[in-house]
Amino acid sequence: MFNLLSMTFTKTSFSPWLWALALVFLITACISQPISYQRYDLTTLNETVEAAPATYSSSANYDNDAYLPDTLHPEYTPRRGVMINIHIMNTQDTFYKIYEGEAGTQYMKNLVATANQALQTNKKSTLMPTGMDVPVYPFNFKIYLAKKPGTNEAAIYRHYDDELYPFIFRGPKRNLGDRKVLNKYGVNLDTELNIFVMPPHVDSLDSKTFRPNEGTGVFLGKGIKLSGLYPEKFAPWRHQGNLLHEIGHALGLNHAWRNDGCDDTREHSNNCWSKDQSARCDTMTSNNLMDYSAKQHVLTPCQIGRIHARFGNLKSRSRDWLRRDWCKPARDEKEITIAANISWAGARDLNTHIRIKTGGRLYIDNRLHLARGRKITVEPGGILELGPKAWLHNDCEENWAGIDTGNNGREYGEVIIDPLARVENTEL
Ligand SMILES: [Zn+2]
Repeated sequence: MFNLLSMTFTKTSFSPWLWALALVFLITACISQPISYQRYDLTTLNETVEAAPATYSSSANYDNDAYLPDTLHPEYTPRRGVMINIHIMNTQDTFYKIYEGEAGTQYMKNLVATANQALQTNKKSTLMPTGMDVPVYPFNFKIYLAKKPGTNEAAIYRHYDDELYPFIFRGPKRNLGDRKVLNKYGVNLDTELNIFVMPPHVDSLDSKTFRPNEGTGVFLGKGIKLSGLYPEKFAPWRHQGNLLHEIGHALGLNHAWRNDGCDDTREHSNNCWSKDQSARCDTMTSNNLMDYSAKQHVLTPCQIGRIHARFGNLKSRSRDWLRRDWCKPARDEKEITIAANISWAGARDLNTHIRIKTGGRLYIDNRLHLARGRKITVEPGGILELGPKAWLHNDCEENWAGIDTGNNGREYGEVIIDPLARVENTEL
């Protein structure tokens, strides 16, 4: 058999000088010249963009799957923060003393804290569609209690109003869908999700049908009305499911036991509150946040994707409630690195630099916000590709830096831009 190695070494006619020359050549090839970087010229692209109609958002990809948190690279999908404020309603003579003072304030803060604790760990669904093994993804969002405007004080407001204080669930005076309390007392309705804690009507406390453990709520477009927070009976965590369920509605989720538009939640009769209720309930009790049960906690990938798709949609109300973390640039040394073949189909808001390493490829086919002064660096041998639905921009009325491409004399950082892609708000 032909053996190249033994042949090369036995060939005596090959001069030592030629060997040395070959060695020098090899070394030069290995120690490449230093990498120089150059700003990619986007001027011609921006000219065509200005002429093009702004039809972007209608064609954007809002498939839930495209918005699932990237569990291998959590930094590609930064955690979102929903801003809320809390209004505690009471009678003019402060009948409900339990909501008053530091204790009442602390109770509400603890409720927010336990809700965030619940949002830290998602679990396996107990009710899955037949034959489906539903994976577990992180929620990837939390809630923040806002500050009162112009202060450092938690946004917990108290209102003493004999007409609007109660939450009346049933009967002729039922006020479930009434928005008066929101319209009168709402604060920053466009940027914070207003949550009204409303006690039962004083008169209903004497009624035989009144049940003090009745935890219920309703989402009304710009705010949530919650009833049944009984600090004297229940620790804050007992109400966290109720609060998060209504926040789930606010963020775009339907009841999971019905046809909710998600094929990874199971339709069911929703009449098992807990496992030990009956033999049937042993296997038919749901733990989905959007069902009614003692264990309402879990969200499926479709539900999580739906929430995050709305967070990414510039026209969505959910996005208005977000803490705009993406506007504040991260520390300069912070960057996201792309070292493999990565595709971003969902919209994203990033506040760090992006570096596409040699051998890495990043394909973007949706909106991508980059914070002030942040840039995309494409190392030699790396590829940045913008698809037809790509839109690189800054959502905070500032400029991001642009795209730098590297060159080491042998390889270049490659940028491929579809004619329909848009790149805006870059430094000139
Ligand atoms: Zn509901």
